[in-house]
Amino acid sequence: MFSKILIANRGEIACRVIKTARRMGIRTVAVYSEADANARHVRLADEAVLLGPAAARESYLVAEKILDAAKRTGAQAIHPGYGFLSENEEFAEACAAAGVVFIGPPASAIRAMGSKSAAKALMEKAAVPLTPGYHGDNQDPEFLKQQADAIGYPVLIKAAAGGGGKGMRLVEKGEDFIAALASCQREARSSFGDDHVLVEKYITRPRHIEIQVFGDTQGNCVYLFERDCSVQRRHQKVLEEAPAPGMPAERRRQMGEAAVAAAKAVGYVGAGTVEFIANQDGSFYFMEMNTRLQVEHPVTEMITGQDLVEWQLRVAAGEPLPLKQEQLEIRGHALEARIYAEDANKGFLPSTGRLLHLAPPAEGLHVRVDTGVEEGDEITPHYDPMIAKLIVWDEDREAALARMRQALADYRVVGVTTNIDFLSRLVACPAFAGADLDTGLIERQKDFLFPAEAELPRDVFLIATVAGLLREQDDAVAASQRSGDPWSPWSQRDGWRMNIAARRTVSYRVGETQVDVGVAYAADGWVLTLRNETVLARGRLLAHDRLAVELDDRRLMASVVAVAEKRHIFLNGGTYVIERHDPLHLVEAGGAQGGGLTAPMPGKVVALLAQPGPVEKGAPLLILEAMKMEHTITAPKTGTLKAFRFAVGEQVADGAELVDFEAA
Ligand code: ADP
Ligand code: ADP
Ligand code: MG
Repeated sequence: MFSKILIANRGEIACRVIKTARRMGIRTVAVYSEADANARHVRLADEAVLLGPAAARESYLVAEKILDAAKRTGAQAIHPGYGFLSENEEFAEACAAAGVVFIGPPASAIRAMGSKSAAKALMEKAAVPLTPGYHGDNQDPEFLKQQADAIGYPVLIKAAAGGGGKGMRLVEKGEDFIAALASCQREARSSFGDDHVLVEKYITRPRHIEIQVFGDTQGNCVYLFERDCSVQRRHQKVLEEAPAPGMPAERRRQMGEAAVAAAKAVGYVGAGTVEFIANQDGSFYFMEMNTRLQVEHPVTEMITGQDLVEWQLRVAAGEPLPLKQEQLEIRGHALEARIYAEDANKGFLPSTGRLLHLAPPAEGLHVRVDTGVEEGDEITPHYDPMIAKLIVWDEDREAALARMRQALADYRVVGVTTNIDFLSRLVACPAFAGADLDTGLIERQKDFLFPAEAELPRDVFLIATVAGLLREQDDAVAASQRSGDPWSPWSQRDGWRMNIAARRTVSYRVGETQVDVGVAYAADGWVLTLRNETVLARGRLLAHDRLAVELDDRRLMASVVAVAEKRHIFLNGGTYVIERHDPLHLVEAGGAQGGGLTAPMPGKVVALLAQPGPVEKGAPLLILEAMKMEHTITAPKTGTLKAFRFAVGEQVADGAELVDFEAA
């Protein structure tokens, strides 16, 4: 076995590989770009080598730099992860030439499967069932159209070099073919540098079912059963599961054997995935082979009890496969959800920013979280905005689904928008729960998946208020302890507050409306008034922004994360964002020609929130701590922030100019 390997990747997959290597006593070398200098994979590895600037083509995709890093650190093998150089045959060859083991298939197998057209030609010879279509070399548009006419519409035009759901066009009728072909070729040229296409019969209501295969250098090849990845958005996987619901044992064997035949036809070694498209009646066709470890490999690990990265390392070191076909079996059911920093309600637009608060569900026998980030890390625009993969396992699908619902409800992220609420609805949607699967599920269920905005539950405001009051108390106690005066009135936990009446109003803003919560101090808690109803509220702050709240005779667990004026409330699996509205924050800018923003009271600058340059109206600029409370100073108008006049930690006098600001 190797004693040291290099991982030519980043994010969750680099961390995933390091975990197994460490368990096997293998030292690890990470590589990183300037943007990833403090990334989790770098922190976890035994050593790390800087490759270059953030852009992947100047860092993670530069084969020479990676091979040089392997040489300098004495790594004997390179694990490419997925994406980046994992399916790059020149890189596999360059590794061999440099005397470093490429943890993956031989370059010849990558080449054979690299083009969807060439792969289909090979599979035809190996008697693997193919989607009806044309996958030859003739690329003449009129000829391709004749082929499409003969196949019968709808057809799918695919880039032979395509991947990641890109370079595909659905054509419903003959007159649209030529234009769709041109647009597919354009995308193929710009994304893959190759405009070769194939034409396939478009299968209606298909399922995506793929088979995990594994080969070794002794000529053994097995299948580790199937994964169902039918839940997709724009041909990209969203949820994956294993085994495939409703798969009869006989069909599983047929598909497994077809996948092994496909792998053997190209002399496959290592982990690979043969993707099939299946009709609702179960008939299936070869689609493509991915010659690498797949993003969704954990669901296979959960149902087989195997570590596929360990298998990869053993095979790459020349050992035989750890198990024979008849020793492999399926136990239970696993689901994986891809947690992304993206806004489902804005066309799944990626969201970037710092992970100000990150609390994944607790891991254990039933829940696994594969991630490349920790609280405080940043999701940057340079790479895939995946935050984590959430994997659950249980004895059957129904129990696994319940685990997934709970794990998603427990997942808290603040700082970027995520698809967690969308995933929660997806796993709750009757079509998914009932395993009525096909690749159009998300599109078909869009009314359920994208509901109109509902009014916020009352509890959200009450809980946010209790959290705020509890934090004020804690801050007061901490201040008195710092002051060393045990008799300080700040250390009292009753309603006594300097400058704060025993009755007050805490206001929030939701869109254009203001919501007021009246607060009266009671002996052991507060009486809160919201829309003419009162409740007696009590609570206790717990670790990591959790809190236990009592509202009259109900007990709730929730989390409230405060970021400037925003309050992110996590309650019963729902996420709500409201804004604290404090009249003290409304500091007017001086005059129409601009000028500065002034301190509303004496205090200390505790954070600068913006960069000099253009800012939108309402953008948070800095936080001033005064009277034991934090006040966010926001831009009164859209304009330009020219400079800050104080640094973090500096005291400011009442009325002091805080920034140089020019209104647009
Ligand atoms: P898999 O086939 O393993 O499930 P996907 O189909 O989601 O993975 O993606 C296919 C490949 O494209 C993977 O290797 C993945 O790393 C890569 N990929 C997907 N999205 C991106 C992206 N935004 N940037 C770079 N690579 C990506
Ligand atoms: P990629 O390399 O981008 O992963 P694939 O050929 O694997 O491309 O196809 C990606 C997805 O597109 C499949 O999972 C499936 O949802 C859809 N798809 C591919 N081929 C067909 C087809 N012939 N009919 C219907 N849907 C298809
Ligand atoms: Mg694919």
